[in-house]
Order: sequence, then C-alpha cells, then structure tokens
Amino acid sequence: AQPIQTTASDQPRRILNTVFGLPGFRGDQQEIIEHVVAGGDAIVLMPTGGGKSLCYQIPALCRSGVAIVVSPLIALMRNQVDILRQLDVRVATLNSSLSGSERFKAKAALRDGRLDLLYVAPERLMMPDFLEMLDGAEVALLAIDEAHCVSQWGHDFRPEYLQLGELAARFPGVPRIALTATADRQTREDIRRRLKLDTARLFLSSFDRPNIRYAILPKTEPRRQLMSFLKTRQGESGIVYCLSRKSVDETAAGLQASGIRALPYHAGLDSAIRSHHQDAFLKEDGLVLVATIAFGMGIDKPDVRFVAHLDLPGSLEAYYQETGRAGRDGLPAETLLLYGMQDLVLRRSMIDQSQSPIEVKRIERAKLEALLGVCETASCRRQAILAHFGERMAEPCGNCDTCLAPVETWDGTVAAQKAMSAVFRTNQRFGVGHLIDILLGANTEKMRRFGHSRLPTFGVGKEFGKPVWSSVFRQLIVQGAVEIDHDHFGAIKLTALGRDILHGKAAISFRRDRATRTATAAVAKK
Ligand code: ADP
Ligand code: ZN
Repeated sequence: AQPIQTTASDQPRRILNTVFGLPGFRGDQQEIIEHVVAGGDAIVLMPTGGGKSLCYQIPALCRSGVAIVVSPLIALMRNQVDILRQLDVRVATLNSSLSGSERFKAKAALRDGRLDLLYVAPERLMMPDFLEMLDGAEVALLAIDEAHCVSQWGHDFRPEYLQLGELAARFPGVPRIALTATADRQTREDIRRRLKLDTARLFLSSFDRPNIRYAILPKTEPRRQLMSFLKTRQGESGIVYCLSRKSVDETAAGLQASGIRALPYHAGLDSAIRSHHQDAFLKEDGLVLVATIAFGMGIDKPDVRFVAHLDLPGSLEAYYQETGRAGRDGLPAETLLLYGMQDLVLRRSMIDQSQSPIEVKRIERAKLEALLGVCETASCRRQAILAHFGERMAEPCGNCDTCLAPVETWDGTVAAQKAMSAVFRTNQRFGVGHLIDILLGANTEKMRRFGHSRLPTFGVGKEFGKPVWSSVFRQLIVQGAVEIDHDHFGAIKLTALGRDILHGKAAISFRRDRATRTATAAVAKK
C-alpha cells in the first residue's frame, strides 16, 4: 500500500477521512482495524450493512504490501472494485469473468507491487501457480469475506473454502481476517476450526437491526396479502422473494397488471435481461424486484424500504440475510414473511431429496425448525431471532408484529411438562422425532430396543398429533426451555427454565393462530 505520512496510531482514521471521505468509525471497526494493522488475526461477525469491508480495506492501506481478499461472488467483487477505483485505491481482481488481457494486467500489477488490494475467487487463490506468484509478492494481509461459506452449517457452503485453512501454514506471520454476517455458534466454530484461526480474536457485533420491522403471517391469500402490504409503499424500492422461478414470473406479472412497477429476477432469465433488471433496481427509485434468492448477495442498495417473502426461506440465517437487505441506510424498513404448511412440506421434501449426507440433512432440518419456531412464537420476533444468533435482548423490541399487536395464546404448560418429562426420563439423549414417538405411544423398533414403552411418559400425549408436538418442541427451543445438542445427534436437553416449567415453577404459553392449525383445534376441544 501507499503509506500515508502520519503517526502510526492515527493512520487508520486519516485513511478513513482522506481516502474514504467518512467522518468516523462505526461500532467495532476501529478496534478491529487496529488489531489487524498490528498483525493480529480476527474473526469479524457483523450484520449485513455493518461495514465489514473497511475492516480489511483500511489495514490493507496501512500495512505495506498487497492485501489478498477472498470473495465468493464475482458480482460482489466487481461492486467493491468499482467503489475502490473511484477512491483511487490500487485494486484488481482475478476471477473467471476476466479476459486474458485483463488477467495479464492484474498479474503484472501484482508482480510489480503496484496493488493495494487484490480480490480473488477462492478456487483461483488455491491454484499452485497463483500461490507461487504470491510467494514473490509482499502480502499485507489475507481477508476471507463471507467466511461462513466454509461451514456446512451455513447456507452457502462452498467446498473451495475448505482449502483456505492451508493459508495459515503458507503465510506465517501474515494477519488473517475472516468476515461474515452469519453468527450462529456452529458457524462461528466451523470458521475458527476450518480456517485454522485458533488464536484469532473474535469481534461480535450486535446483530440487531432496530430499524427493520419484522412481520410474519400465516399464508392465506398470498397475492392479496402482498398487495395490501405494498399498497402503503408505493414509490418505494423493495424486494419480493419467491421460491420458484415460475412464481417469480407470475408474481411480477401480477404486480405489473396492478400498476406496480415490478421486474422479475431469477437464474432462468437471460443474463442480459437479468443484469438489466438488477441495474434498474439499483439505479431507479420505486421499483419492486421480484426475485428468487439468486438475487441479493453483495448488492449494496442503501434505500431498500421493504423485503417480502412469499415463501418460507430455508433457514433463519437466510431469512435474516434476506430481510437484512432492507434499510441499510438506517431508516425505517418493513418486512413481511408469509408461511404456510405447504411451504414446510416442500422445504422438508427438498431436504429429504437432496444429495446431502445424512448429517447435513439433519442440520438442515434443524435449521428449518428454528425458523418455524420464530414463525410460531407468541413473543417478540426480534428477541427470538437474536437469541438464535446467541444474543440476549432484555426487553421485547416494540418494532415487530407480535410486539405491536399481541397475539392470542394458550397455556401450554401441561403440554410442555409432558414433552420435557419425555426428555428427562430418557436422560436427555434423544432427538425430537423419538421423543414425539414416546408421547404418542408409537410401537417403533427404537422404542422396543430402548425399552421406552415402559416409561410412564409413554403414550401420555395422544391428545395431540405429531404436528402439534413438533410445534411444542419448536416453541420450547425458541423460548429457551430446551436446547438442541448438535454435537450429539440433535439430542434435546433441558435448560434451567425448562426444569422450572417441568417442576411447576414457571408457565409457558403458545400462540393460537399458528399455521399448524390442528393445535388450536385440539386445545379448543378440551
Ligand atoms: P457489509 O460488508 O458489512 O455488509 P459494507 O462494508 O458494504 O457492509 O458497508 C455498508 C455500507 O456502510 C457501505 O455503503 C459503506 O460505505 C458504509 N459504511 C461503512 N463504514 C462506515 C462508516 N464508518 N461511516 C459511514 N459509512 C460507513
Ligand atoms: Zn418485538
């Protein structure tokens, strides 16, 4: 990098002011930057829009040599490179979309030490000839963006990322910084272990996006529900996510027919049309982009005012990421998620039919259940979402649908006690499926093998069906009465709160209007 003449300690701030034209640091940025400039490794967990890029871009300019930035998506790289070029930062990228001469130019600049930052795709970085080229260069630091891609637990697992752990041995003494907006404990541990960041300092920002309002409704008439959501938002930019290409096309056409400026975006469209629609969305005001999840990663449009999901996302992480594209400018933004039993059935069969190993399927099912738990919760959505990311919020948020219009609930204490006594009587060593079989008194092979039909809890839950018990367990998880031990095949364990409920010292209630309507019906019968 081009060292700016200044004392070492205020150099990051000077670069922030002079190169990036920004008045001050946000959140943990300064601390992270100082740590990396001093040569430390870091794992940075920050929500989307939190300002992760500066955390490696400023150290890249403070330290001598070139910073290598691994990034999984070409669109994302291009976006960053465009921004940096405008700021006169010496930056290049190496990925499969470049022409031969562009690639040659980038490599020459690297060889001659004329680069501050080089963005590379993970598969390219690990190629022997490229690594050899780097041996001849002075490397200022290694940044691994979207580091959750290293985790199978994450929603964008990329096998190429697994090799990045080798960088530790290849570049001893070069600071490494891994960044992601995915913060659950499992992903965090995978990043540390697989990228060999054993001694890296963890910087965990709050994942709360207080300006985003969460609303989740059972899906009854999706088209009409969407229209009434959009009615008050005319002239604002927003994203509507659908699961399939077909429903993207249909929804976009339906909106256009109602006089709303909407464009479709999915991987089945011609790439020229796709990028035309993306550009229109980025540049114009008041456009609704109807998209599959193919759209969005790395898109930096600050004034997206709403995000609607017409179908259930695959996980809470995905939901959080996708809703997180709203309100990056910090101004109020709204979200709407519609979910129905059909979505759930579809998502489950997508998992069942995938080619993933059995362990991955188990994890994916658990993640889907976690999202459903938030859909079904009778308490604050934000508290439930943040709890999933390991963050405790003392008070309900006041800016989600359940906070704004409290829902009807039923006293689930007895049901919870039955469920948790099944957990307790089997020594907290079994997963939800088997526990429900116990409650329903199912005569399975596993039941016979473990002699569980002799338990006093066997068959005590026949007043409900399987969907209701699944929902009860999800709510026990969301409300923190039990937890899943992912290292022991998804075994359910009681927490202190769970014990209190089991012993009649605390009560628990469940929401009445869940999509699994059978629960309501069953309770009403009593
Ligand atoms: P992330 O990668 O965490 O999603 P970015 O690094 O893309 O976020 O930053 C999101 C937006 O916030 C960008 O427009 C960026 O310019 C802006 N930003 C980042 N840090 C600051 C800061 N300290 N002051 C003002 N704006 C900032
Ligand atoms: Zn709330």
